[in-house]
Amino acid sequence: MNIGFIGLGNMGAPMAENLTAAGLNVTGYDPAGVTAKDVAIVSSAAQAAKNADIVITMLPNGDILRAVADEIIPSMAVGATFLDCSTVDVESARQVAEKATAAGLLPLDAPVSGGVGGASAGTLTFMVGGSEAGFATAKSVFDIMGQKAVHCGTSGNGQAAKICNNMILGATMIATCEAFALADKLGLERQAMFDVASTSSGYSWSLNAYCPAPGVGPQSPSDNDYKPGFSADLMLKDLRLSQQAATAVDADTPMGAAATKLYGEFVEQENGSGQDFSAMLPRFAGRNRSQ
Ligand code: NAD
Repeated sequence: MNIGFIGLGNMGAPMAENLTAAGLNVTGYDPAGVTAKDVAIVSSAAQAAKNADIVITMLPNGDILRAVADEIIPSMAVGATFLDCSTVDVESARQVAEKATAAGLLPLDAPVSGGVGGASAGTLTFMVGGSEAGFATAKSVFDIMGQKAVHCGTSGNGQAAKICNNMILGATMIATCEAFALADKLGLERQAMFDVASTSSGYSWSLNAYCPAPGVGPQSPSDNDYKPGFSADLMLKDLRLSQQAATAVDADTPMGAAATKLYGEFVEQENGSGQDFSAMLPRFAGRNRSQ
């Protein structure tokens, strides 16, 4: 099987390398001049897409995805699969899918969770929007690059699943961090707070699997000086996409809006950029009620 891979950044390069390691022919393109092991690098996205059975894109945002789609769709073979694994807005995903379908291609939006570690280990989870037929063509590459692929329905639904999930994640992480900061001020040990809440109704992934308090609960980025992990910047990106989508469909998401505002301040005004998203705990712990 021939794969075209466009966008060989932090995520794309290790994903492409897992495909070559599994014996697939991968032709890649990235304007930053980056490379990936055993990937044949070409000098345009159109060239990477030309003879591919599946073209995979792993790009920064919806504007870039749309531009790349306009460039590659005319050079792709009819019947080929256009598999976008970037996290982008639902609207861009649906527009690109419409153009690809009109050109006789099988479009899939398949954003991932699992981060750079999951990309390297081949343990990503894919949330996939698109046709059953498209999903079937991509199954073998999902199996190589990931541990799980969930078909979420029509085009755009992969992105919808990703941003709804991450809106829960952002809101629960903030709730968990502010609860620890309140517990501190009430004189409650963090370990005691964890022991109670993690086995009670305060239970969540943010607390139980990714505890933001260093030295408490399982190993997490808090135990590594809040080095990401999943950066506050990427959480802010996903939360903003959730609010863009909520505005488009007139959905009331007050907790998502509050989380977006807090991560926006943290990343853009409070040195949160480059820190893990769980570094909200030292942020809250260092503040008082009037700030
Ligand atoms: P990145 O910035 O490291 O990589 C993006 C790559 O796209 C860069 O190498 C860039 O040069 C390339 N690019 C830019 N414009 C291009 C163009 N016109 N044609 C071809 N390539 C182009 O970002 P990343 O961390 O690899 O993330 C990629 C996507 O995956 C993003 O949408 C991100 O939100 C999503 N994501 C990232 C993570 C993570 O932990 N890094 C986790 C889940 C999802």
